[in-house]
Amino acid sequence: MYKRIPSGVAVAHYELRNVNVAKCSACGAQLGGVPRLNPSSLRKLAKTEKRPERIYGGTLCRRCLANILREAVRAIKLHRS
Ligand SMILES: [Zn+2]
Repeated sequence: MYKRIPSGVAVAHYELRNVNVAKCSACGAQLGGVPRLNPSSLRKLAKTEKRPERIYGGTLCRRCLANILREAVRAIKLHRS
């Protein structure tokens, strides 16, 4: 949107858009521990403050991760001789 400032010059003013809640990529549940910040504010955070520090943190919810890990463990074939 263009605004005319006191000097008479038209300058562009950009409005920040709302940031959506992070969702699980498997079931769509809302993810906790992921901040809803615009990119400039997100840049001020440390990496550890942007998503949970576990595997698939910020991608899968804890229930889907537990199910996937369970299936992976059960798929391992035990070698018996
Ligand atoms: Zn999920």
